[in-house]
Amino acid sequence: MTEQQTILDIKDLTTHFITYRGVVKAVENVAYDIRANEVVGVVGETGSGKSVTVMSVLRLIRPPGKIISGRVVFRGEDLMSLPEAEIRKRIRGREISMIFQKPMSSLNPVFTIDRQLTDVIRLHFGLDREQARQRALENLAAVSLPDPEEVLAKYPHELSGGMQQRVMIAMALACGSSLLIADEPTTALDVSVQLQILKLIKSIQRRTGFSVLLISHDLGVIASICDRINVMYAGHVLESGSKAALVESPQHPYSQKLIGSVPDFAPREKLAQFKGEIPDLLFAPEGCRFHPRCDRAEAVCRREVPELIEVAPDHKVACHLVTALKNKTTALGT
Ligand code: SF4
Repeated sequence: MTEQQTILDIKDLTTHFITYRGVVKAVENVAYDIRANEVVGVVGETGSGKSVTVMSVLRLIRPPGKIISGRVVFRGEDLMSLPEAEIRKRIRGREISMIFQKPMSSLNPVFTIDRQLTDVIRLHFGLDREQARQRALENLAAVSLPDPEEVLAKYPHELSGGMQQRVMIAMALACGSSLLIADEPTTALDVSVQLQILKLIKSIQRRTGFSVLLISHDLGVIASICDRINVMYAGHVLESGSKAALVESPQHPYSQKLIGSVPDFAPREKLAQFKGEIPDLLFAPEGCRFHPRCDRAEAVCRREVPELIEVAPDHKVACHLVTALKNKTTALGT
């Protein structure tokens, strides 16, 4: 597989939650892709739909949630049309591994790391117990755990949060996955450990060539290791592009504010502030969902949802002002 091949392609994904109070439009027409051998980030506030999108990709949405429409093509197969048994057997936790904010929710508290890791390896590679154990030790060493023998003998609760997360990454390595989805993997960790885990994910990704989808509310985390970034807000993708495009020349008013509000990217005395709050998606605003908080909103913004349009190679933006500017530039150029 070459570097530019698309490994995961999400198109027009819409997921709603049908509650007794009404329909929560959590994810609407979301589209982004991940190529082989790259790290893609999704950044957005809590409630932006970034986690619901990946839960939908993995077909983990349960009632009252419902995937309304969309296509999710993973290595040429549409995951939306695969039987649940196939997803469970071949995709979830196999071809696509996941790590979450709380590794304890994925590790079984009653079994040692040895049992959990070697079971996975035996299942995937048909090795005997001793061979699987050797492979487990190699995987633990690959995630820079200092004493793999000692770690194997422990139960999950005997490890620190950072060590548990390293075990989860070792588990993904053991599965030979081609995509690792990391949903807020460092949020519960100390700052110094956060950086170590991010560096580890990046170095393993480079070494093994798998792809990573990193989800975080923290733009600093996303920008630290991602090649491309998607900005989500209130269930929509507002901007997608390379890290350089997003961080150095964001086009969407929300992305501009987001970047301007992070001390890593803006001088402290000029930090941008958001007015208002992310909307309750039970009462999602019509048109551009950012319009109640946007300083540049016009009448059209309250009426029509802006389309995600290409403004430069590999750089897309969903904003009426940006679309109008692009149309004007194109007209002048023709
Ligand atoms: Fe602001 Fe309108 Fe652009 Fe939305 S579409 S970000 S409201 S200018």
